[in-house]
Amino acid sequence: MKAIVLRAYGGPSELRLDEAPDPVAGAGEVVLRLRTTGLNHCDTDVRRGVFGVAQSFPHVMGVDGAGVVESIGPGVTGFSAGDRVMPHFMLSCGVCRNCQRGQDNICLDAGVLGVTTWGTYAERVKVRANVLVRIPEAVSFDDAVAGTVPFATAWEGLVVMGQLRVGETVLVNAAGSGIGSAAIQIAKLAGARVIATTGSKAKFAQARALGADEVLDYTTDDIPAAVMALTGGYGADVCFDMVGGDRLIDCIGAVAQGGRIASVGAHGGEKIEIDFIELFRKHITLHGCGRSTKAIYADVLGLMAAGKLKPVIHKAFDLKDAGEAHALMESRAFFGRMLLHP
Ligand SMILES: [Zn+2]
Repeated sequence: MKAIVLRAYGGPSELRLDEAPDPVAGAGEVVLRLRTTGLNHCDTDVRRGVFGVAQSFPHVMGVDGAGVVESIGPGVTGFSAGDRVMPHFMLSCGVCRNCQRGQDNICLDAGVLGVTTWGTYAERVKVRANVLVRIPEAVSFDDAVAGTVPFATAWEGLVVMGQLRVGETVLVNAAGSGIGSAAIQIAKLAGARVIATTGSKAKFAQARALGADEVLDYTTDDIPAAVMALTGGYGADVCFDMVGGDRLIDCIGAVAQGGRIASVGAHGGEKIEIDFIELFRKHITLHGCGRSTKAIYADVLGLMAAGKLKPVIHKAFDLKDAGEAHALMESRAFFGRMLLHP
């Protein structure tokens, strides 16, 4: 098969189209013919060798994808060739304590697609059948890939962990990111007022088009002061951050008394100093949230099929142009998800 075969860690130029052996489904596994691959910021970490899990080379990366079942290994029931599916990137075991509780997103014995196994920057990928979620007919492969991870992660952070209620105010950082644009839509669907931040005034109109009621520029506005002013001095009930660093510090200043902060990423600063006096004085709950369950994947795919959630796609590239796509991702000059077509 054709695949982007990583032979060494490095810059985007390491991402070259090459031949790789076709995967063969073993017991409990299926092989998918991928139609769409999603790019994620963590892919750049894998490519540079700083993700925290070492790869052996050659390696095929890619945590996100959708396609059709092509072949089925022994013991797999419930799936047939041609079924439209996508794997959850968290390769849960299905049998540990947390999996048995329905918390497959915090499986105690999980791999990560494209990190601990070969991933989706390829024409085909092999996964265990227990991580597959069906894609409704009304949802295209591009929309499934563009929307599911960001919407599901935003749902987990805002609704499950953040306990967002109708009428509350939500602060969403980095509205231009895939996860930020998803969080705006989830918060609006849940009945919240949304204050979004971006690092560029060029993205204000796009954030408003997604449903943001107010937009702030974190490079020029004092975010805590601006949020307090917009909320009558109360602050945001839930803050949703995927940046870390100063943006997470903004959340601590901007959140209401008794408010909740959901942290789903930290590319803008992984180690920060937090004033815990502020945390307990304001009765802040700080949630870490890395990914949703498979059940929430299915829920957000249903909401996409119903037209309630619309994924934001910046651009789809041919698989061979993965390097160009990575360079664009690292420039941050995009709004929404980037995809590859294998
Ligand atoms: Zn498990």
